[in-house]
Amino acid sequence: MKNALIFGLTGQDGAYLSKFLLDKGYNVYGTFRRTSHKCFERLDEMKTFEKVTRIKADLADPSSIQSAIRQSQPDEVYNLAAQSFVGASFQQPILTADITGIGTLRVINALKENSPSAKFYQASSSEMFGNQAGIKNENSDFAPRSPYGAAKVFAHYITNHYKEAYNIFASCGILFNHESPFRGIEFVTRRISWNLARIKFKKIKKFSLGNIYAKRDWGFAGDYVEAMWLMLQQDKPDNYVIATGETHSVEEFLTLASEQAGLGDWHDFVEIDKSNMRPTDIDELTGDYSKARKQLGWKPKMKFKDLVKYMVEHDIDYFKLRIDPYEN
Ligand code: NDP
Repeated sequence: MKNALIFGLTGQDGAYLSKFLLDKGYNVYGTFRRTSHKCFERLDEMKTFEKVTRIKADLADPSSIQSAIRQSQPDEVYNLAAQSFVGASFQQPILTADITGIGTLRVINALKENSPSAKFYQASSSEMFGNQAGIKNENSDFAPRSPYGAAKVFAHYITNHYKEAYNIFASCGILFNHESPFRGIEFVTRRISWNLARIKFKKIKKFSLGNIYAKRDWGFAGDYVEAMWLMLQQDKPDNYVIATGETHSVEEFLTLASEQAGLGDWHDFVEIDKSNMRPTDIDELTGDYSKARKQLGWKPKMKFKDLVKYMVEHDIDYFKLRIDPYEN
């Protein structure tokens, strides 16, 4: 039985990956941070909470990272931990650089010192490409447009450096946006599905969005965690773009989601608020996943329309059963 250690267990991808690895027969260890509130909702909903060994660790704290590695004796390490919200990275640039960027160095350096034969996965991001035109692949240039993107570029290069310099089996997945009902509610897709459900149940009358003309390549998180695992099953480490190859605007997502919720024309209840806009944004991102298709045998399964439907239905079901925790 192999041991896997997930940094960032409590996030969207951590929840899907923990279930995926448990189903493959792994002993799964995962890290969580000390918080003043319950942070295991996703694992509860995924029914993996009891099955995963949970270790307290923070990417700001090298000793806790080392302890997690020593305790889990991992064959595979997945670094999903990050300040992952682009918008927040403009307000907290130094924290983002420290956790999303230097935090990755703390993890891979601890791996080199404590468990150098373990395989390492780094969660790189399409945000590294910035606003350059065209479909992006593994050879496209990086030109990040946010502190988050810049921190991910550092993490990407330092991971590649440790692979070359110390012979660590380290692969970076350059993942384009991937969503699910476990997406944090500050991210635009979930902000839409969550608030549409609140409107449907008359908890609110309207909500605001920022740049609805931004286009993204949106896939399903459950499909993308399989690609992470496949990268670590190869004979050699490498970097792969993981995407759907399709791009859709936030407005398209919103239109489909409103229809799905049975609410009709979104103009009746969505306001465009400039305060939601970022100082610099990316107009459009589309990924070319042909290398992953050829070498990993991976392809996305869930279609955009089904993803929208799944998220809206989930949030409507949520409000059918529970009260809104943000009502006040
Ligand atoms: P989430 O924001 O849902 O999860 C991030 C995880 O990192 C959470 O478990 C969070 O813990 C943890 N974390 C945050 N700060 C720290 C810290 N200081 N120390 C330890 N852990 C910390 O992101 P996703 O699951 O969506 O994404 C996973 C990874 O993939 C991230 O690195 C993200 O940047 C990257 N990525 C995601 C994409 C996407 O579309 N989802 C696209 C490309 C890359 P807590 O629950 O306590 O906040």
